[in-house]
Amino acid sequence: MDSNNEDYVWSVVVIGGGPAGMMAAATAARQGVEVLLLEKNLNLGKKLLITGGGRCNVTNNKPVVRDMIASYKEDGKFLFSTFMQHGVKETIDWFAERGVDFKEENEGRLFPGTEKAETINDALVSELIKTKVTVETGQSVEGIEFDGSKKQFQIRLASGRKIVAKACIVATGGKARPETGSTGEGFLWLESLGHTVLSSSSALVPLAIKNHWVKTLSGVTLPSVKLTVFVDGVKVLVKKGKLLFTHFGITGPTVLNMSKQVGDFLLEGETVIRLDLFPEKDAGELKKYLNQLFSSESNKKLKNVLMHDLPLSLVEVILSELNIDGETPCHSVLKHDKISLLNYLKAVPLEVKGLLGADKAIVSNGGVDLTEIDFKTMESKKVDGLFLVGDVLNINRPSGGYSLQLCWSTGSVAGLHASNKI
Ligand SMILES: Cc1cc2nc3c(=O)[nH]c(=O)nc-3n(C[C@H](O)[C@H](O)[C@H](O)COP(=O)(O)OP(=O)(O)OC[C@H]3O[C@@H](n4cnc5c(N)ncnc54)[C@H](O)[C@@H]3O)c2cc1C
Repeated sequence: MDSNNEDYVWSVVVIGGGPAGMMAAATAARQGVEVLLLEKNLNLGKKLLITGGGRCNVTNNKPVVRDMIASYKEDGKFLFSTFMQHGVKETIDWFAERGVDFKEENEGRLFPGTEKAETINDALVSELIKTKVTVETGQSVEGIEFDGSKKQFQIRLASGRKIVAKACIVATGGKARPETGSTGEGFLWLESLGHTVLSSSSALVPLAIKNHWVKTLSGVTLPSVKLTVFVDGVKVLVKKGKLLFTHFGITGPTVLNMSKQVGDFLLEGETVIRLDLFPEKDAGELKKYLNQLFSSESNKKLKNVLMHDLPLSLVEVILSELNIDGETPCHSVLKHDKISLLNYLKAVPLEVKGLLGADKAIVSNGGVDLTEIDFKTMESKKVDGLFLVGDVLNINRPSGGYSLQLCWSTGSVAGLHASNKI
């Protein structure tokens, strides 16, 4: 029977052509079953291509399964059998067998040697071709129904077409960056199939900051600063307002209001907030202002002069970070120290560790309740033959390649076990 015929029964249909869906489809097809991959965008891996600032932080170099799952804190207990089947080592080997080498950066982050996310996307797309997965792009799925008596899924497309499958893998992603295709409609079908979808763990919460000096500023308020957020060095958000330092990080209305977005950024990569302590003056104006101040107060100590505008504890942190002696009289401050001071006052770096909330360091975008999944196979405990992978799952994780590792692990395990169902 022709596979375009509405009565044709596919062995495995994968919905969503992101990293988790591509890995699942290729793995299932390698077992020799017929696989159809449906993606609503015209191209595969739209979000994957922007990961890690376009460089793609593929995973984190923790080949020992116990070490890796410990990074997912509370949720790690679900992941053991999944990672035992396909963990970091298997991921590195999988890509190496397809010609991808890796370079390691801070805190174990692994990037492709080419430093291009295309390398990872190309490896997956080539594998889909090699394993003869039927890929249909520009196909938006509208709903899934399960016929329990026939043990078959009926997948409805926006075009009106219906597709029948023995096993269905849902890889439609979460809700972050909807312009990439992850718009969250998969959650509606999963709810209608009996699953519980939990909302994002990030809310209005303070931010935990890695810089050890933050605790020395606990209680300090800055009434008007500009906060510019960078993810993997790329500027993503600018806000202005009041900021309050706490023992673990920063808070205040501006920080609380941006915390949900920062939660999403943390899943994308290294998140740094740069504080402009003089937002009303551009760099030229600040330089002029400081020069005037230093000449009118030339015999006074640098630290006392800076206290005209900033609290003492912050002045001490700044001078210590820049290795400048605050006892120096203003007339003796070296030119290069003045330049670094000027640059620092416009961009004090705060490395974001996580959200201060239920869990202090890690976040999720929400998703299907983990107790409803069998992690040995990634099969739903609610519907026989339904598999869930990648960002549709409510797994808390830190930034550093841990999100994509979930895609490789859950995708390959689901692909293997979905093909075994047939
Ligand atoms: C800017 C950014 C940078 C990131 N950087 C990193 C990083 O460096 N390292 C890391 O580990 N993680 C990173 N992440 C997180 C990572 O990208 C995600 O965890 C990962 O993409 C999730 O993969 P997925 O396959 O589950 O879902 P997605 O990549 O979201 O793919 C889901 C796919 O399903 C398709 N789809 C949705 N609905 C339908 C439908 N109705 N019909 C058909 N198709 C549908 C979508 O179009 C999409 O292509 C980053 C995220 C962002 C936004």
